[in-house]
Amino acid sequence: MIVRFWGVRGSCPTPLKPAEVGGKISAVLQRVRPEDLQSSQAKEKFLARLPRYLKSTIGGNTACVEVRLADNTMIVLDCGTGLRSLYDHMEECGDQIRDYHIFMTHFHYDHLSGMPYFAPFYNGENRIHFYSPYSKMEKIIREYFRKPYHPVPFDAFAAQINFHILEERSIPVGPASVSWIKRNHPDGSIAYRVEEGNSSFIFSTDTELEDRDFRKTRRNKSFFQDADLLVMDGQYTLGESIEKMSWGHSSYSMAIEFALEFDIKQLLIFHHEPMNDDRQLEKYRNIARTYTDMLNKKHGKKLILDFAMEENWLEL
Ligand SMILES: [Zn+2]
Ligand SMILES: [Zn+2]
Repeated sequence: MIVRFWGVRGSCPTPLKPAEVGGKISAVLQRVRPEDLQSSQAKEKFLARLPRYLKSTIGGNTACVEVRLADNTMIVLDCGTGLRSLYDHMEECGDQIRDYHIFMTHFHYDHLSGMPYFAPFYNGENRIHFYSPYSKMEKIIREYFRKPYHPVPFDAFAAQINFHILEERSIPVGPASVSWIKRNHPDGSIAYRVEEGNSSFIFSTDTELEDRDFRKTRRNKSFFQDADLLVMDGQYTLGESIEKMSWGHSSYSMAIEFALEFDIKQLLIFHHEPMNDDRQLEKYRNIARTYTDMLNKKHGKKLILDFAMEENWLEL
């Protein structure tokens, strides 16, 4: 399966500010030497040496992750503002998808607000499948489109829309199976595990880790143990997570400890704090990597750690 990130921010969209763009350009100009501009090869080398926070951005769209299975089945996790970029990418690639399997973790705005702008909803040839264990899912989504909140009602969607309330712990989707577990978050949140062949991916955004999550219960082990990739809420520093206890989010350091506890192979920190700019997030990324190295050495483990970045993708 291929996992692709279209929105990695938490809480509210965070576009780059004009001053940030100017700051990046000026920092790059200060680093360039005449010899870096002598040939196209030298220019490429110079660009490759630049830190990630200067030559790119971690992204400002809110939660949306695409999972593409081996037979091209499309799974979408959450409908934050990144959902629009997913469609832009499909347009660019000439991608003809008719069935969309959309799993909703919960219904806070940052996980819903891309929905009205997703063109496939307005195409009568498409079938949209929404999944959640919340029995009120249809009512909640319909209300989001009520006047005066949105000019176009939910019934304007031409696609065939199906709401699937998850009762079983696991359901088949194309060649994969998707299972779920409840997470600690205000108004609730669900983590999903997508398993295809020998590959497994867990999406656990909007999660405030508690002691009981670390317990090796049968359920925790069967859901988390040995997963290839865990994408987890790590919005805060440890200090912030103590200050903002019960706000529903975890620190990146706790997410690392959790991933090590369940022998996860790769962890991507997700739901980045909107108050943190690219430079600040790069600083936390470096601290998080050092912390992971320390714990890997101490416990003889090999966890790979990074911060999720918009438009990045990986194959499992
Ligand atoms: Zn959120
Ligand atoms: Zn939330």
